[in-house]
Amino acid sequence: MATELPKAYDPKAAQEKWLTFWEQKGYFHSEPDPAKKPYTIVIPPPNVTGALHMGHALNNTLQDVLIRWRRMQGYNALWMPGTDHAGIATQAVVERQLLQQEKKTRHDLGRDELVKRIWQWKDQYEARILGQLREIGASCDWKRTRFTLDPVCARAVRETFFKMFRDGYIYRGKRLVNWDTHLQTSVADDETDTVPTKSGFWTFKYQVLGEPGAPATGEPEFISFSTTRPETMLGDTAVCVHPSDERYKALIGKLVTQPHTGRKIPIIADGQLADPALGTGCVKVTPAHDPNDYACYQRHPEIGIINILNPDGTINDAGGEYKGLDRYKAREAVTKKMEDLGLYVGKEDREVPLKISDRSKTPIEPYLSDQWFVKMADRNDGKPGLAQMAMDAVTDGRVKFFPERYATSYLDWLGEKRDWCISRQLWWGHRIAVWSRTFADQKTFEDTLALEAGTWASIPHVAWTAQDETRTVHICLAHDDQDLIAALTADGFAQSDDVLDTWFSSALWPHSTLGWPGPSLPEANPGREAPDWDALRSYYPTSTLVTSRDIITLWVARMVLTGLYNLNEIPFHHVYITPKVLDGFGETMSKTKGNGVDPLDIIDTYGTDALRYYVTSIAGETQDSKLPVSNQCPHCGELIPQKQEHLGLRTKKLACPKCKKEFRPGGPWPVEDTERPTAKQASDRFEQGRNFANKMWNATRFMLMNLDGYTPGPVDVAALPTEDRWLLSRLATTTKAVTAALEAYRFSDVARLVYDFVWSEFCDWYIEMSKGRLKVPATRGPAQRVLTGVLDGILRLVQPVMPFVAESLWHALGEVAPVRGLPSPAQAEESVVIAKWPTYPEAWIDAPVEARFARMQDLVRSVREVRNRYQVDDKTKLDVTVKCADAVAADFNALAAFIGPLAGIATFTAGPGVAKPKQAGGIVRPEFEAHVSLVGLIDPGAEMKRLEKQIADKRKSLDGTRAKLSNEKFVAGAPPEVVQQQRELVADTEKQIAALEENLRDLQTA
Ligand SMILES: [Zn+2]
Repeated sequence: MATELPKAYDPKAAQEKWLTFWEQKGYFHSEPDPAKKPYTIVIPPPNVTGALHMGHALNNTLQDVLIRWRRMQGYNALWMPGTDHAGIATQAVVERQLLQQEKKTRHDLGRDELVKRIWQWKDQYEARILGQLREIGASCDWKRTRFTLDPVCARAVRETFFKMFRDGYIYRGKRLVNWDTHLQTSVADDETDTVPTKSGFWTFKYQVLGEPGAPATGEPEFISFSTTRPETMLGDTAVCVHPSDERYKALIGKLVTQPHTGRKIPIIADGQLADPALGTGCVKVTPAHDPNDYACYQRHPEIGIINILNPDGTINDAGGEYKGLDRYKAREAVTKKMEDLGLYVGKEDREVPLKISDRSKTPIEPYLSDQWFVKMADRNDGKPGLAQMAMDAVTDGRVKFFPERYATSYLDWLGEKRDWCISRQLWWGHRIAVWSRTFADQKTFEDTLALEAGTWASIPHVAWTAQDETRTVHICLAHDDQDLIAALTADGFAQSDDVLDTWFSSALWPHSTLGWPGPSLPEANPGREAPDWDALRSYYPTSTLVTSRDIITLWVARMVLTGLYNLNEIPFHHVYITPKVLDGFGETMSKTKGNGVDPLDIIDTYGTDALRYYVTSIAGETQDSKLPVSNQCPHCGELIPQKQEHLGLRTKKLACPKCKKEFRPGGPWPVEDTERPTAKQASDRFEQGRNFANKMWNATRFMLMNLDGYTPGPVDVAALPTEDRWLLSRLATTTKAVTAALEAYRFSDVARLVYDFVWSEFCDWYIEMSKGRLKVPATRGPAQRVLTGVLDGILRLVQPVMPFVAESLWHALGEVAPVRGLPSPAQAEESVVIAKWPTYPEAWIDAPVEARFARMQDLVRSVREVRNRYQVDDKTKLDVTVKCADAVAADFNALAAFIGPLAGIATFTAGPGVAKPKQAGGIVRPEFEAHVSLVGLIDPGAEMKRLEKQIADKRKSLDGTRAKLSNEKFVAGAPPEVVQQQRELVADTEKQIAALEENLRDLQTA
C-alpha cells in the first residue's frame, strides 16, 4: 500500500497543522527533571509593542535551531519566552495615541489612569508579537511566558533594588542627562539619533573686569568666544582658555561680567576644554547644559553650576528676565541683548550635529538632574565591585563569547566602570520604592536621624541613607508595608515619581523568569540565600544566550553582574552574537527607510521553512549579510529589484516590466494610495530554501511510490553494495560535521552541509542509482531499507532548521515505514520534534569508498560537460573511452552500472591502453582522460568553422586588450583595479582560446 503525497509541498497547510499538533502534544513544555541534563535559553524579550522584523526572525530562528537540536539530543530543553515592557518606547506610543485621538496629555489623565491605559495596550500587542514568534516556529515553553513587569519579575526587581540599596551600591547623584523636553524624561544615548542640522554659529564677547575683589581695571578688555546655543549664556559660570595660550595668559584668574544676569564669572585655564587652534581659542563654560563643560566643572568645582531650564524646555528662575521663555525664544532674546550692548561680534551659518530623541523626534537638551545610580567601581569595604565581578567572569572563561572577538567590546566597556544611571522620569515601569524627605533646616534633619535611625535599622525590610548636603533622608522598602508607608507619609516622606531603567529589569531576566528570589516573599526569606526552588535550581545558569552586538553592554554585561550579585553564579555559559541582516546596499533595515523585509510577507510567499533556511545559511562566524530587497508586483508577482531612489517615499509609482501595470513601491507610506496598490517587499534569496523543501518533498514522494512491500529488517552494512556504503559513509560524515558545527555555533555550515548532502548526494546521485535495484525483486527489499533509513536520518538533521517540511515528511514516511532505521530498525517516534538526534557508527565512515565515488562523479560530470559543450541532447547515448590506470579502470567498470545511466552512455571502454577515438570531445582530469565520440552527432566541417571563427574573434579582442595594456598612458592613468581587470581579462581570454583550440584539435583528428 503506497501513500501518495500531494504533488507539491504546501507550506501554509503544514504550518497550520503542525503548530497546532505540537502545541497539543506539549512538546515544548519542560519541567525540572533530575534524570536529564538541562539545556536552557532565555529569549531576548522583544519590546511588547514591537512587530516581528528580520532581526527577530534571525535571532529567534537560531535559538530555535539550538533548542530543537538539544531537545533531540535528549536534553531537558527549556526555551523561556517573554516580552519587555520597554519603558519609554511603550509610554511614548500610548501618549502619542492619546494626543492624537483625545487631544490629551499624560498629565490630563494622571499616573494611575495612564498606566491602566498602557496595560490595555500591552495586552493587545503582546499577543501580536508572541503570535508572530509562534508563526516562525519558535518552540518556546509558552506556558512559562513572562513579562518584565509581571508580578514574578517585579518581585525580583524589588528585591534586587532593595539589596543593592542596603549594600550601598545604589546612590542618589547629579548627572547631565539627555533630556527629552517633550516627553520630559531622560533618555539613554542609544535612544537618540544625531542628525546634521543647519544652525547659527555666533561669536560674542564678554567684558574683562580684573582680579576678584579688585576694582575694574581702567582699560576695558574683551574676551570673545563662539557658540551654537546663545541661550546657554544664562548659565555660564566661567570662561575657559588653554593654559599655554599666550594670548590669554595674562587674563587667567580675572573676572568677566555675564551681561544678561550681571553675574561675575572667572576666566579659568583648562587644557582639556579649550583648544587654542579652534575659533578664538576661548570657550564659555555652561556646566549644567553641556557634557564637555560639565566634565570641566568636575575638574574645577569652584566655578559652580547653574541649571537654567525647566523640565519642559522653558527658562527657569535662574534666567532672570528671560524666565518662562521657550529655549528657542530665549536664544533670540539673548542674542538681541548682546547686539544692543555691542557685545555681538558676528554669525556664521554652519551644519552642526544635533541630538534628536528617537521617541519624540524633538531636540535633546543636556540637562542636569538628580538621578539614582548603581555604583560600578571597585569598593574598599570588602564587597565586590560590580563591574570587576562581571569582567572576571569573562576573563576567567566562565562566560564565553562566540565569535570570541565580542568579548573585547564587553571588557572595554565594563573596564570604564562607569556608574549606571537607573532612574527614568516615566510612569510606565517599576516605580522606585524609595520614600524621601528633605528637611528645611539642619537641626530637624539631625534630630530626626538621631530619633529614628535606630528604628529603621531594626526593621529587616527597611534600608535608609541620608544625604547631608541636601538634608534628605531616603528610605527604601523591600515590599509595600502599608502601615509603614502610612507612617512615613504622615511624616512628610513621599515616594519617588521615577521608574527604573528598563534594562534594570531585563538585567535580571535569566533568573527573574525562573522565579528568583523564590516562592516566598522576601521577609520570609531573611537570609536571602540562593532560594531552594526547582526551576531556578534546574535551569540556572542557562546554557546559551543569542543576541545582537548592539546590546552587549546595555544587556549582556548587566545580566552577568546581576546574576553574580544575586546568585553568585553566571547567568549563561555561552553568548552567541548574531550577524545582522542589511539591505542590498549594506544599510540597516528600518521601518522609516522602508528598506526592510517583513518576515510575515516572506512566510506568506515562500513559507516559514524557507525563511528559517535563509537566516540559518547566513549566520556564520564573520560578517553581516546583505539581503537585496525587491518590490513584488501586486498584479503579477514579478520581483522588481529595489533601488535606492525607491526608498524613503521618494518614488511614488513604478511600472512593472512584466505586466506593465503600475504600483507604488513598498515602504512606510502614511496613507493608502487610492489609485494603485502598494507592493509587498520580497527577495529571491528565499527561493533556495523553498526549492530545498520542494526537493525533499519530491524525493520523498518518489520513494513512497516505491515502497510497496516494504518490510523492516536489520541491515548488515559491510555486506551492502558499494553505493549504499558510500551513501552511509556520507551520511555518517555529514551528521558528525553538522553536530560539530552546531556545537560551535557555525549555523551557516549546518545549512550548507545538510543542503549539499540531501540535494546532491541523496537526491541527485543516490536516488538515481537506486532506481535499478528498486525494479528487481531480489534487491528491492534491501534498497528500500537503506532509502527509508537514510531519509529517516535526513529528516532528523533537517528538523531543527526546517521543522515544518521535516514533520510533514516524517508523518508521510511513518505511514508506510513506521519501523525503520539503520543498522537495526526501530519504531519511529510519533514526531520528528521529539525524535533522537542521529549518531552513526564511526565504522561507517569509509574514506576509500568516498574517494572512489568522488572520482566516479567527476567522470560523469566530465561526460555531461562534453555533452553540453557540443550541445548534444540528453536522449542521445554516447560512446565513451577513458584512458586511465588499470586499477581505476577496474573501479570504473565495477561502477559502470551507474556511470552508464547517470552519464547517458551507450558504450564504455576504460584502460591504460585505450586509443583516443577520432573526432571526439575530451576532458583531462588528474586520474583519467575521458573522450566522447562525436561521430555522427555533429557536422565536423560546420563545427570546425564555428570554432575557427570563435577563435579568431577571441584573438582579436585579446589583441585589443593587450594593446591597451602596453599603452603606458593607460596603465599609469587608469585606476589600479581597472588595470587589474584588464590583466585578468587577458588571462581569461587566453584560457578560452586554449580550450577552443583543444576542441578544434579533437575534430581535426577525424
Ligand atoms: Zn506585474
